[in-house]
Amino acid sequence: MESQAAVAMVDQLRHTFNSGKTKEESWRRSQLQNLLSLLVEKEDAICDALKNDLGKHPVESFRDEVGPLIKSVNFALKGLKKWMSGKKADLPLAAFPASASLVPEPLGVVLIISSWNFPFGLSVESLIGAIAAGNAAVLKPSELAPASSAVLARLIPSYLDSTAVRVVEGGVSAGEILLQQQWDKIFFTGSPNVARKVMTAAAKNLTPVALELGGKCPAVVDCLTSSWDQQVALKRILSAKFGTCAGQACIAIDYILVEKKFSSTLVELLKNGIKSMFGENPRESNNISRIVNQRHFSRLSNLLDNPTVKNALVYGGSLDEDNLYIEPTLLLDPPINSGVMTEEIFGPLLPIITLEKIEDSVEFIKSMPRALAIYAFTKNEEFKKKLQSGTSSGSIVFNDAIIQYVADTLPFGGVGECGFGRYHGKYSFDAFSHEKAIARRSYIVDFWFRYPPWNEHKLQLFRSAYRFDYLGILLIILGLKRS
Ligand code: NAD
Repeated sequence: MESQAAVAMVDQLRHTFNSGKTKEESWRRSQLQNLLSLLVEKEDAICDALKNDLGKHPVESFRDEVGPLIKSVNFALKGLKKWMSGKKADLPLAAFPASASLVPEPLGVVLIISSWNFPFGLSVESLIGAIAAGNAAVLKPSELAPASSAVLARLIPSYLDSTAVRVVEGGVSAGEILLQQQWDKIFFTGSPNVARKVMTAAAKNLTPVALELGGKCPAVVDCLTSSWDQQVALKRILSAKFGTCAGQACIAIDYILVEKKFSSTLVELLKNGIKSMFGENPRESNNISRIVNQRHFSRLSNLLDNPTVKNALVYGGSLDEDNLYIEPTLLLDPPINSGVMTEEIFGPLLPIITLEKIEDSVEFIKSMPRALAIYAFTKNEEFKKKLQSGTSSGSIVFNDAIIQYVADTLPFGGVGECGFGRYHGKYSFDAFSHEKAIARRSYIVDFWFRYPPWNEHKLQLFRSAYRFDYLGILLIILGLKRS
């Protein structure tokens, strides 16, 4: 995209926004309905694109992208009227008679820059919030999922109002040109390095940003004794790691923490679980996604290409560069200073770190950069409390993984290095709204001491007022109280 074209596009979107069209409930509703039609009618095109870009199985694509988006659009359509109407607020007694409310207003023209691993899920989820909140929006999908980006660029203009919603395809240079424009919010999903560039560009115009970044998400696995619990936990762990874009997910399990005495049992369970979920030769099954491109394949193979990491290999480890395939791989106690433990893995390699006591996991997690999500498979209530209060993360999930992503009622977002800002469900609407404070007063009651000329008595009245709320003043005025 040329710079001039970007300027013209943003001008046109601002013109639409200023016309008030996008603020109308009917417009928001029709756009969300159209988005719903797109998702339902073009499911095959979406799943084909995901197969091309990432080798995702259509069922996985529906479970993780199309399905959650359909649910999100329906949730927004259902909640829209209530969300738009705002809420009542209290005013101090001294303002009586008065009323107050918080009324959401759209921010304006917003930019959404998105990542490649869930190219529909991530970009359309935020677009739902932008539209529901009444904004004009530009979406820039990632160039690393080109088939998905092309489908978005082709379908969005044919379903949505192009005077208010646009898709700009392209990579770094398109992103840079977009960042030079003036936006009312930038919603970014991606890496910390690019996030810094986004914030720097946003600072020029004091544009608010939301940053959805990554990190290393631990899964603490307690010594589960019942075989049913073990089997259920196992399936959830394997699905959250290898069965969700082959571990290329910001909330994928990055590594496991387990007590030494349970580690060999766990490794055996994981090995058998991989075989029953993905077959003896997972490469032959269509159930595991491929690595997105050569660069990420090399990054992952370099992580493995280290003698101390190779020594830790207990399962998998085979690579097929031509097919961008990496076998589900288990590493038992790789060195803590090796790449697999210092970098976000973002792929199907799973380090298992052993600890003397499972309670040590609290300190271990605290010694690492903050996690976007923490998972803990345990039935020990005391331990759950310790983990919850002793660590910080975007979310914490007990006895499952990834499910927090599809809960409309939970905000999705990070803390610390994992980013800031949150979305999903009503939180997406809030992310693209400004809650305007509205106070309405009457002329019936007026406190004479609010106004100059000042004297000591007025100061005393103010002291009481701020200490005891205005009720104190009323009492003083009525002669019932002296301060
Ligand atoms: P990335 O930062 O390389 O790219 C993200 C987007 O930014 C892409 O659309 C890209 O084209 C664009 N971009 C790149 N350079 C730019 C620049 N200079 N100016 C403007 N735009 C630019 O990240 P990625 O490889 O797409 O994603 C991987 C990272 O994203 C991982 O760290 C992962 O954890 C994180 N992630 C987080 C979430 C989340 O929801 N928290 C979801 C998915 C991925």
